[in-house]
Amino acid sequence: MPYADATVLTLSVAQSLGSAPPLHLPVEVPAVWLELMLSPWARVFAFAWGAIWGSFANVVIYRMPRGESVVHPRSRCPACGHAISGFDNVPIVSYLLLRGRCRSCKAPFSPRYLMVELLAGMLSFATFMTVVHVPLVAGSTGSLVQWQLQFLLCLALLVVVFVDLDLWIIPDPIVLPMTGLGLVLAVAVPDLLGVGWMAAFGSAAAGYGVFAGIRWLYLRTRGIEALGLGDAKLLAMVGAWLGPVGLCWCVGAGAVQGLMVALPMLAMGKSIANTDLHEVHGDDPELGGPNDDRAVMGKHVPFGPFLGLAALEYVLLGPEIDALLQMLVGG
Ligand SMILES: [Zn+2]
Repeated sequence: MPYADATVLTLSVAQSLGSAPPLHLPVEVPAVWLELMLSPWARVFAFAWGAIWGSFANVVIYRMPRGESVVHPRSRCPACGHAISGFDNVPIVSYLLLRGRCRSCKAPFSPRYLMVELLAGMLSFATFMTVVHVPLVAGSTGSLVQWQLQFLLCLALLVVVFVDLDLWIIPDPIVLPMTGLGLVLAVAVPDLLGVGWMAAFGSAAAGYGVFAGIRWLYLRTRGIEALGLGDAKLLAMVGAWLGPVGLCWCVGAGAVQGLMVALPMLAMGKSIANTDLHEVHGDDPELGGPNDDRAVMGKHVPFGPFLGLAALEYVLLGPEIDALLQMLVGG
């Protein structure tokens, strides 16, 4: 089952709010460690750590789909080519100090760089709170390794969301190794993420199989690509990391939220993606015309960003979502 320690986490929250009796004996945690992890500086560090990786995610989002190295060369201003110094590359701070402009030519940088850094900082902070801080407060142990793994998954999802919004692709170099890592973790340390190896392999196969199957059916019968194979690979990653319930939430909530966002935006004449599908991928007949079935109100909607959003929700609120689904199913 995903989140085998879901009850522990939920109880921990309840205990920290004083509404539940402690069910498990307090674990011995060295006082220095406790003091360090519970100090406000630990939370500041968690946010800053995330923002630094968010800055790296910005580079990955831009360069990886273009086949460029994510390490070299150093970032340059897209307008004047001025190399951005380390001093001007401090996440969030530099953007605000320079008011989102190039130091040399004053050309504006997209506010999205700032947004990705802020989002990554918040995701690192949130996973630190649920995996380290709250369990420690409740007298249990917090796991830094689990925190870093959950944050890694968040970061991967963040990159996938923005690459799909830009270029209509789910990047293989992100989702394939991450699927592999999720499966290895489920075999080697199933307790760490709370997904056993059978659940992980089954969910990864189901996520991939169902979507690849739908795609194959459409290609056979209608000759159009209703779903990208990228979405199937993304769901394999989600299944491997989050197990069967996480996978179901990802598909169900992803579809519902996708429609909730897409319909009003399309009604206002706005596109969801930042580019036109056919501009990026050419007039591939397999992608279908504007009147094909997967077009919503005459426009194509990328599914990846909504799948990614729903997966992030499950990473952050897994126990709560489990309880909600249990309530809905159990009546
Ligand atoms: Zn410039």
